[in-house]
Amino acid sequence: MVAVTRTVPAHSNNYFHDPTSRSGYRKIFIHSTRSGIPDRTDLELELASTLNWFQNPNAGASSHLVISPLETVRCVEDELPAGHASEDNFDSLAIELTQPIASMPYPDLLLARAAAATRSWCLEYAIPMVRLTEWTSEGRGIIGHEDSRQGLRVGKSDPGPMFPWNTFIGMVREEEATMTFEEFVRKWLGPLYQYYLEHPTEEISDAWNWWKRLPSMQSEELDRRLGEVEEASADHDRIFEEFEQSLHK
Ligand SMILES: [Zn+2]
Repeated sequence: MVAVTRTVPAHSNNYFHDPTSRSGYRKIFIHSTRSGIPDRTDLELELASTLNWFQNPNAGASSHLVISPLETVRCVEDELPAGHASEDNFDSLAIELTQPIASMPYPDLLLARAAAATRSWCLEYAIPMVRLTEWTSEGRGIIGHEDSRQGLRVGKSDPGPMFPWNTFIGMVREEEATMTFEEFVRKWLGPLYQYYLEHPTEEISDAWNWWKRLPSMQSEELDRRLGEVEEASADHDRIFEEFEQSLHK
């Protein structure tokens, strides 16, 4: 169960009432409130505006949670689909983050609240703690409204460029939130380096691919982390040198 600071139910017009209408939650949608008020720095005021809007019988919109730096507010029960992404309402849970305009940063406190709620949902509904950068019907994970099929179609831009996806996913995973790149490499890439030593004629990219085919590695999580390591390839030589030294000790 997501821990909330209070419950402010959305108007009953603004969400769906048949729990069987949902097809099983596969995704968590990240939205931002975007009142459009450029000089609004009080995000609790932004929260209040959003809660008011969801209580308006004509809004036609709602989310399960609205999160500000100080509050996690429940507006729709998990069991019922909220009205946040048209045809994608029925297989997704939704969070609205208080962000008045797209250029405003998301405070750490707000991100921590959102990560805690997201983690709780991931565990409860067996949703992988991964970002989905594109929408597929079967895809399971955490997706920005702007990256969803429906969001692209209607031109959504939330949560936008200020949302720190990598940091956020790390916070959701908790145990790796504080892992440095070097710690990550030591944890996951030792066996790869061993393989590389045994197959010195292979290109390192083949080794990556071999490693990723191991049954124990077949998860989106590790694909993503390996992708990060590949991107940080400037560090490869130094890291492999370190491994070689450590193996010969
Ligand atoms: Zn949205």
